[in-house]
Amino acid sequence: MKLTFAHLGDYHIAVKALFETLGVDVVLPPPPTKRTMSLGSLNSPEFACLPLKIGIGNYLEALEMGADTIVMVGGIGPCRLGLYCEVQRQILEGLGCDFKMIVLEPPQGRPDRLLRQVRDIIGAQRISRLFDALRLTWSKLTAIDRLNKITLCLRPFEKRKGDITRVYEASLRRIDEAASPKEVQAAAGNARDAMKSVCKTEGRIGKAEDPLAPRIGIVGEVFMVLEPFANCEIEKRLGEMGVIVDRSIYLSDWAVEHVIKDAFRIFRKSKLLNEMAKPYLCHFVGGHGVETIGSTVAYANEGLDGVIQVAPFTCMPEIIAQDILAKISRDLGIPAMTLVLDEHSSDTGVLTRLEAFVDMIAMSKCRRR
Ligand code: SF4
Repeated sequence: MKLTFAHLGDYHIAVKALFETLGVDVVLPPPPTKRTMSLGSLNSPEFACLPLKIGIGNYLEALEMGADTIVMVGGIGPCRLGLYCEVQRQILEGLGCDFKMIVLEPPQGRPDRLLRQVRDIIGAQRISRLFDALRLTWSKLTAIDRLNKITLCLRPFEKRKGDITRVYEASLRRIDEAASPKEVQAAAGNARDAMKSVCKTEGRIGKAEDPLAPRIGIVGEVFMVLEPFANCEIEKRLGEMGVIVDRSIYLSDWAVEHVIKDAFRIFRKSKLLNEMAKPYLCHFVGGHGVETIGSTVAYANEGLDGVIQVAPFTCMPEIIAQDILAKISRDLGIPAMTLVLDEHSSDTGVLTRLEAFVDMIAMSKCRRR
């Protein structure tokens, strides 16, 4: 079996570690590029949302490289996510591809189902390696998220433009090569020190050193928030403009909430976000619609200077959230901007809108002081 999966930010490092430790051959598609996007858009329905198109591009590139099994996560809810796997399967079969597709459905209080699906992929004889594989995967996943949090806090204070990104990428390579949780910890610790050394500030990570540096929260559809190629690298661009970015979604948090706590029916933090969203949106609309609203309210309460929502064109949950964001913005006095992106979006267009939004926020922050 030569297994592949779609890219989502830098998390392929953790997923690859999981399957490789379990003795499965992994064929990693190349990082998404314009070619990936073209392959995906050319072979998907025009009205399909961007994550589906980029996913198709990833799979086609991986199948070209010799992959024969695709693993993807399923989904539930009123949006199209639940149909994704079937649509993608039909598109690829229609193109004459020869492959097997494995869909990992959310456990919904039945961890045994998820375990059975994993056993089907790796075979019963390798199940004993699962604990070690999960430990290594979890250490890589949490290290990547910690590194991202530090990057977002420190990038506005780097001595030379691009220093933090360079250190981040080098550290990711070390995390990728690490063969044990201990090595992962060491790589993450070195990364943190290296990042601090290329910054103007010696201060505490996570605290805004410059009271004039604008703080902006990123909310929206999970794939668009986490995949820099899909969102035109907004986090990096904002950081290089001197903005401290706060991302509302991290995969390790999502895994704790939706896999571990959900499987064992433990109280979920996302319920707090639901409570915050309730005055504006009181029922599930699919995707991350409710979380987008709840996180925006939370950011307004925390005193952030603005919120940017990133959404794929035609994404139903985020269209609902977009309308409500205007009301939250008026009620709670937090500026909000929505970036709706598809295969026609250009880096320059996104950059222009970001600059205008950041200028507006910086000016009003200065005036308030
Ligand atoms: S949440 Fe939006 S982008 Fe994601 S599958 Fe649903 S409609 Fe598509």
